[in-house]
Amino acid sequence: MFRIGFGSDTHRLEADKPLILGGLRIESDFGAVGHSDADTLLHAVTDAIFGALALGDIGSHFSDTDEKWKNADSLVFLAEAVRLMKEKGFSVVNVDSIINLEKPKLRPHIDKMRENLARNLEIEIDCVSVKAKTGEKVDAVGRREAIKAEAVILLGKNNRKN
Ligand code: MG
Repeated sequence: MFRIGFGSDTHRLEADKPLILGGLRIESDFGAVGHSDADTLLHAVTDAIFGALALGDIGSHFSDTDEKWKNADSLVFLAEAVRLMKEKGFSVVNVDSIINLEKPKLRPHIDKMRENLARNLEIEIDCVSVKAKTGEKVDAVGRREAIKAEAVILLGKNNRKN
């Protein structure tokens, strides 16, 4: 049995804020603003897992008004989604994602992000795709006002090889 999930996340960018993506701190003059660590990629992937399980969205599990999650490491959110997924007998088949960010170029960081996701999703790295696109200088991404990430994930039940 398979379930597909889709997740999306947007954060505002501001000068001199940290930019954390896929669990990595990335050198940048602009960073994402959020209640947690504003890891847009992890939020989109976490949202996709909740979506595949029809368990609401990331905000319904981790409210952005709850002091508990202030500056939280978003790997904690992903870990909870993975825990619920496993509790329901599912595992990840593959994930594909897109980060929309004007600057900096993310290519040098992509494989490390894939590694982080693979480890946390308990799958091989060749089952994890992370792509990066600019906003071509138009829209909020292109004007460096925002970062956006989207992810689709496929979950399977009883598809483990062991
Ligand atoms: Mg978010």
